[in-house]
Amino acid sequence: MTRVTLVRGDITRQHVDAVVNAANRAMRGGGGVDGAIHRAGGPGILADCIARFPHGLATGDAGWTTAGDLPARWVIHVVGPNHTAGERDRSLLTSCYRRALEVADDLGATTAAFPLISAGIYGWPLDDAVDAAVSTLRDTPSQVAEARIVAFDQAMYDRVERRLAAS
Ligand code: ADP
Repeated sequence: MTRVTLVRGDITRQHVDAVVNAANRAMRGGGGVDGAIHRAGGPGILADCIARFPHGLATGDAGWTTAGDLPARWVIHVVGPNHTAGERDRSLLTSCYRRALEVADDLGATTAAFPLISAGIYGWPLDDAVDAAVSTLRDTPSQVAEARIVAFDQAMYDRVERRLAAS
């Protein structure tokens, strides 16, 4: 049974087993949380991405690398759907959370920190992005004891808090 928790802050500073990255299909770094993770974790994460995922990842899928200089042990990279570019199949977004939990289980990770996948540059409507995160993390059977949603700003924190309180 996974407990979904919420903090406001920077995901690169979280002391958890695994940090989830909102990556892109190429897995060669990018903006937003992806850029922050690669900057804070150092070049080892990119080297690992290239070695382990020479062809990148499909939208909705997840895969892990080491976490370089981050306090976490692993980074679980997921590729959210790019709503702005016309990828609007919600099952691709919920798949990211489910696949991340599956990969966490494979690794034996019991704490994992999640950003709001697709809620930034990829432009997913915010309330639905929050609902997809909370409901999927709650409903997916997993050995992860704590799934920590990390809200980068106060407005997002408030949005997630409201959704957590709703059910
Ligand atoms: P996507 O391309 O999947 O939309 P983004 O990285 O653009 O991913 O945004 C996803 C969410 O992560 C947004 O809510 C954004 O504000 C947030 N974010 C950006 N940097 C960080 C960070 N260092 N820690 C936690 N969340 C972050």
